[in-house]
Amino acid sequence: MNPVKLPPALDQYVRLKQEYPDALLFYRMGDFYELFFEDARAASRELGITLTSRNPGAENPVPMAGVPHHAVSGYLAQLLEKGFKIAICDQIEDPKLAKGLVKRAVTRVLTPGTVSEDESLESKAHNYLCAVFWDAGANAGGLAFIDYSTGEFSGLCAKRERDLWQWLIKLSPREIIAPQALEIPGPVKETRALINAYPASPYFDRAQAVDKILAAQGVAQLSTLDLDDKPELVRAMGALLLYLVQTQKHPLSHLGQFTQVTPGDHLLIDEVTERNLELFRRLDGRKGPGTLIHVLDQTLTPMGGRLLETRLRQPWLDAGKIAYDQDAVAFFAQNDGVLLDLRRALDRVYDLERLSTRIYLNRTAPRDFAALRESLAALPGAHAALADAAGSGDKLPAALDDLLAAWDGLDDLRATLAAALVDSPPVLVSEGGLFRPGYDRELDELLELSEHGEAKLKELLEEEQRAGGLPKLKLGYNRVFGYYFELSRAAGQPPAHFVRKQTLAGVERYVTQALSTLEEKLLSASDSRKSMEYKLFCELRELVAAARARLMAMGRALGLLDYYQSLAAAARKWDWVRPAVTRDLDIVIKAGRHPVVEAQAAPGSFIPNDVTIDAAGRIAIITGPNMAGKSTALRQTAIIVILAQMGSFVPAREATIGLAGRVFTRVGASDNLAQGQSTFMVEMTETARILRQAGRDSLVILDEIGRGTSTFDGLSLAWAVVEDLAARPGGGVRTLFATHYFELTGLEGRLPGVRNLNIAVKEYKGDIVFLRRLVPGPADRSYGIEVARLAGVPRPVVARAREILAGLEKKGKQLRGETIRAITENQPLLPGLPAPRETCAQPDPPDEHPLVKKFTALDIDRLTPLEALNLLHEWKNAFGGE
Ligand code: ADP
Repeated sequence: MNPVKLPPALDQYVRLKQEYPDALLFYRMGDFYELFFEDARAASRELGITLTSRNPGAENPVPMAGVPHHAVSGYLAQLLEKGFKIAICDQIEDPKLAKGLVKRAVTRVLTPGTVSEDESLESKAHNYLCAVFWDAGANAGGLAFIDYSTGEFSGLCAKRERDLWQWLIKLSPREIIAPQALEIPGPVKETRALINAYPASPYFDRAQAVDKILAAQGVAQLSTLDLDDKPELVRAMGALLLYLVQTQKHPLSHLGQFTQVTPGDHLLIDEVTERNLELFRRLDGRKGPGTLIHVLDQTLTPMGGRLLETRLRQPWLDAGKIAYDQDAVAFFAQNDGVLLDLRRALDRVYDLERLSTRIYLNRTAPRDFAALRESLAALPGAHAALADAAGSGDKLPAALDDLLAAWDGLDDLRATLAAALVDSPPVLVSEGGLFRPGYDRELDELLELSEHGEAKLKELLEEEQRAGGLPKLKLGYNRVFGYYFELSRAAGQPPAHFVRKQTLAGVERYVTQALSTLEEKLLSASDSRKSMEYKLFCELRELVAAARARLMAMGRALGLLDYYQSLAAAARKWDWVRPAVTRDLDIVIKAGRHPVVEAQAAPGSFIPNDVTIDAAGRIAIITGPNMAGKSTALRQTAIIVILAQMGSFVPAREATIGLAGRVFTRVGASDNLAQGQSTFMVEMTETARILRQAGRDSLVILDEIGRGTSTFDGLSLAWAVVEDLAARPGGGVRTLFATHYFELTGLEGRLPGVRNLNIAVKEYKGDIVFLRRLVPGPADRSYGIEVARLAGVPRPVVARAREILAGLEKKGKQLRGETIRAITENQPLLPGLPAPRETCAQPDPPDEHPLVKKFTALDIDRLTPLEALNLLHEWKNAFGGE
């Protein structure tokens, strides 16, 4: 109830606002969109616009803020970026014709997850609106998602609630719809998404959902979409569709065909791993250099960019699909000329999917048509690049054959757009000048009249001057009676057909029948030209809208081509090779590199490394000093696996990748403090998840797990984790474990499938040199003091640390090679673990001392006397000598 009687316009405002309580209501008044009350305060605060009041003198002034209607899009984009919803209330009748208050209605609700305007979208990223539904009774859930700007409509089912949320986070949605009763997990709340918690009815009502889905997809039954036994997904989809109907006020016919993602078809990379491997963002949250996608992205079109994002988020798990993509990538990587021609063509292609969506939804402007024309003009070039290659006798890979077979050059549309539009169209249709002369005869005539009106008037004037012998006769114009002839009394007598209109001091003004007729024609020509242009524009729009499905299909085809060529271009640029992908569990990487670290290092300075994970060693314990390169070696292995499963080439000299179903990466005691939790708690929560979720085909990367607690706690936990992973059926889960607990290296030979690796360093006069080479065996010691010295810790502190260390070592507290062995050998293993020799062949006799191995491997001829002395010194130390 409003205690104060409001003026009619405000009263109308308040009524409309009640329907959209969670949106800022932009209320059209004349040339402005106005906001009132709390909305005005919010807009003023967020947009930095002036807060005024509707009735400044009144007892209860109504706060008001407004923006001019022609500049509204920039303000809307800002508000959407900040996560606001905006209801646009327009005048829906002509104010001139309105009796009383102009009729107004909300014509569209803009929300972060449903925008289609470029100002609010990142070109190479999807803009997802997600809906989740979880049925605790059935223990099943569904996640539906839409990119409204392209029409992509997908969903998936999950049997575990946390999987549902994990997928949702990975999609990085701008907006989420969830049932009110469902508790939203903290990490979801922390994302940038706007969350709409809605009642189960009507939003998640099953019957309503079915109706909406069938209508939107134009099918008769759910089974056509493979949805008949997926009630949770159906409900999530229903919520999405209802929300779109409510906000967009537009039929949902522009949505593409619903496609289901089958999680089992993909390599799952959980969000923590995505972050740790810096796939899309660096650890500090920024995009760009320092991320894998930055190195990888050589796409030229937004569709290709978005596909790259999708594939990196969910690589394949199917060797057949991977090979299909790899063949196409290999083809471009080997055919420079074709690659170059294709890149040249794709470079001219704009966002076909979003352009066609905007045109279809009638949220378009002439420049969209110009961009569409440019894009279509590139199609023949792209087609020729492939067709020529096929014609020249090269066998095209299946993926490219399939693309060619389904190719639609859109020649009709291309020809129409080329004939219709001028080279640089105006920003608005109402400015005129959109169409090329010759496109429409009627328009040409009107153009001729309106543009050459001046000349025609001049012709008429000259005729009268000649006929009446009145060289001083002039032509003038005023608002009251339009065009007139003007003659000073001294200049002569007017002809008989002149009709006097006005007498001024010394001059008379006249009109003639011919002048009035011409004037009328001119005026109506300019009006008719405008409406004619608008009519032609609408016809063109409808023509393009009718071709939506074809445009979308070609948008997808070009996106896929762009994806392939981008991977080929990356392979060429960074010198990558095609990996062999197998269905077994071995991973053998020769001379692998970390693509991002390599890209940032001086050319040629990155040291490649071999990594082998096979039946003899599923678990690698990697030791070495800080800064030696352990994390890099670990991450590069995971990245190479991910790249391989995207169909990409990989940074290595040679690689065989046994497919992974999941990749887990955990980094211990890092500085990614989650709110309110200690780092150790975060680390253990994540470790717990791995131990619960990792399966036979997983790849687990553990970097310094256990570091966040006391030494013995940490060591015991790390130990137990390794044991658990090693004890899994089938020889253990593939794991790379970097640790500073040398004690763990004692597990090699005692636990089946555990293999020690270390990153070699060289000690030279108390300094260490990082060799960055991954070599078999455990590291000999931690070199913590040397690293501290390298890092610039002052000399006296370093010297004192050495003294303390020496003292500790004497007391046997420093755990070195043989001490470690003594400790670990006395520690009983997890009961039930098979003895190593029974299960797998060990490459080296387990009881051979690491120093013996080093000694026998030594190439004495290549050793300088100084190096030999240093080695002797080092080995004596390792034996506990002074
Ligand atoms: P650790 O995990 O052992 O502390 P990192 O893997 O973080 O060490 O490596 C430290 C730094 O060393 C990296 O930032 C990188 O610059 C460099 N680095 C690591 N591995 C290599 C390599 N193979 N070649 C060249 N530089 C490397």
